[in-house]
Amino acid sequence: MSAHPAEITDIRTDFALLIDGAAATSTSSLDVINPATGQVFARCPAAGRDELDRAVAAARRAFPAWRDMSYAQRAECIHRFCESLKQHQVELARLLTMEQGKPLSQAKDEITRAATQSEGMTRIPIEPEVLEDNSQRRIELQWFPLGVAGIITPWNAPINLAAGPLTSALYTGNCVVLKPSPYTPLCTLKLGEIARAHFPRGVINVLAGGDDLGRWMTEHSDIDKIGFTGSVEAGKEVMAAAAKTLKRVTLELGGNDAAIVLDDVDPKAVAPKLFFASFVNSGQVCMAIKRIYAHERVYDAICGALADEARKAKVGSGLDPDTQLGPIQNREQYDRVVGILEETKRSGARILAGGDVPATAGYFIPPTIVADIDEHSRLVREEQFGPIVPVLKFTDEEDALRRANDTRYGLSGSVWSSNPDRAAALACRLEVGTAWVNHHRATSATVPFGGAKESGIGRVYSEMGLKAYLEPRVVSVLKS
Ligand code: NAD
Repeated sequence: MSAHPAEITDIRTDFALLIDGAAATSTSSLDVINPATGQVFARCPAAGRDELDRAVAAARRAFPAWRDMSYAQRAECIHRFCESLKQHQVELARLLTMEQGKPLSQAKDEITRAATQSEGMTRIPIEPEVLEDNSQRRIELQWFPLGVAGIITPWNAPINLAAGPLTSALYTGNCVVLKPSPYTPLCTLKLGEIARAHFPRGVINVLAGGDDLGRWMTEHSDIDKIGFTGSVEAGKEVMAAAAKTLKRVTLELGGNDAAIVLDDVDPKAVAPKLFFASFVNSGQVCMAIKRIYAHERVYDAICGALADEARKAKVGSGLDPDTQLGPIQNREQYDRVVGILEETKRSGARILAGGDVPATAGYFIPPTIVADIDEHSRLVREEQFGPIVPVLKFTDEEDALRRANDTRYGLSGSVWSSNPDRAAALACRLEVGTAWVNHHRATSATVPFGGAKESGIGRVYSEMGLKAYLEPRVVSVLKS
């Protein structure tokens, strides 16, 4: 996140905060590292308390007029913004790859997906509901916006993870202060620059900053709602801080997703799908597969086919068009994943592919498949959030289900079988926010996504996600 200024040459500095419809700077700054090189390549302003107060005040001023616009009018602003995002796709994707590390093609997909899902959300109608209407009285359930929403995002998919809560808040009539991770602030600041032309001043404010800025947001007396995406640990801090002002919270937190592979699968057909769902973005996806439970009848074949996939995958700089897996996004996470890998090796588990970390300046870890590992190991119990995945054997489906559910996490999970009905019967018993059959990792504008247990509170996307930025109000009229 930082380097000695004397080491920095030729770095990009064309980034600004967005406060009250205008580009803004501050007295502090963040250095941004390209994880493929380990070098600082850009610097941007970092907001302090003053900038936060100004942004919140601007959002508060903008709120009444924005709230009083119709859904259709707000959707129109969001559509123009999404069009503009798509027009800037190439430039934004390159910046995303530089700061986040993912391959350029996946960075482009992230931007398209953000725009498409945002547009999709604005086609969801929010209507008052008539609960009772008779000669005596009419009772209606209405929905009104909360006010100012603080949106805090992590570093693994900064554009896509901003788009869901941002659109939910804006479409429903709230104004926003958006804060990205200090590791990946640049695309979000550019997103703010693009948004300027399409929204009334103050409706969207974008501030880069560290964890402290996030804390100040969660404590701020004039922010009404926090839409937080990040780790379980920080999510708990957010909830505790929000309690002081009874802010509403949506928490989209970590996961330790299990995939249960039944005895009737074709291992060669299933392995590439399992591999992709585990290793895309080098495993730095909240809903990536993080544990694979394979039936003993297919265990060896699944392990072998996954190892083949891992050996084939091309790891490198996201700017290289042949790259399939980029680096770990930041040094702290790299050290953590390397630590888990070393511990796994020492435990005597079998490393089937990968496992040797190259000595490069970039934060590269090869895709690593681990077999015959202890269920109580760190790799199985914790969210690794990196390219190392354990494959565990089971004999009995009930036992597989018990082990899959034996975690404090509950984001998502999947069951794989040549018989979808059989798999669905088991999937229905996963203690998760989303249970997939024969696929893993999919979101859409109209389908709620979020975590059970410690993986979160509330949902994004869909009517349910939108209503998380609205307060219900019952209006009861006595007619006589
Ligand atoms: P993180 O919790 O460290 O940081 C996320 C954001 O919160 C950053 O902007 C950070 O500056 C801010 N922050 C940190 N501490 C804070 C605090 N006490 N109060 C307010 N803000 C604070 O997470 P990360 O390392 O950036 O992201 C990785 C984690 O995010 C993983 O656990 C991953 O599973 C999770 N994640 C979840 C989802 C989901 O939809 N459920 C999606 C993506 C990532």
